[in-house]
Amino acid sequence: MTAIKKARQPRNADKENKEAIIQKMNTAENHEQNNYQEKLRQPAWQKKRLEIFARDNCRCTNCGSINKELQIHYIDYLKNFKPWQYPDDMLTTLCSSCHLMEKSRSKAEDYLLQAFEITGFFAGDLLKVATLLHNKHFADRFKIILRRDGA
Ligand SMILES: [Zn+2]
Repeated sequence: MTAIKKARQPRNADKENKEAIIQKMNTAENHEQNNYQEKLRQPAWQKKRLEIFARDNCRCTNCGSINKELQIHYIDYLKNFKPWQYPDDMLTTLCSSCHLMEKSRSKAEDYLLQAFEITGFFAGDLLKVATLLHNKHFADRFKIILRRDGA
């Protein structure tokens, strides 16, 4: 009986430790999220987003919708930049549906990059992935970035 109790103690300690780590991560994430939400309320950002909407003729730059909620999308994230400090060509107008799709794509890219980092890759592997994406017509989704580059 005593042996079982002793065996369980480390598990409980591990569980408590994991919960503490998760709690700490959630708190940090919440703090970051609250901080970001606070930034989005800043007049400088409100002005900037209206300028981007106006530049994009108040329509989604991906699907052209004018009837859905419009949001500003960061084409790429810049470290240590406040939202209103982003160059205009790093921001684009997307409807909420396209924005959600774009965010999912970004996550998928992160997973793909992580997989490459873990497994390693050759240049030919990148060509295969690019060809696969092109053949599946995913290339259309990249037009947002290409458009900003003037292509
Ligand atoms: Zn759209």
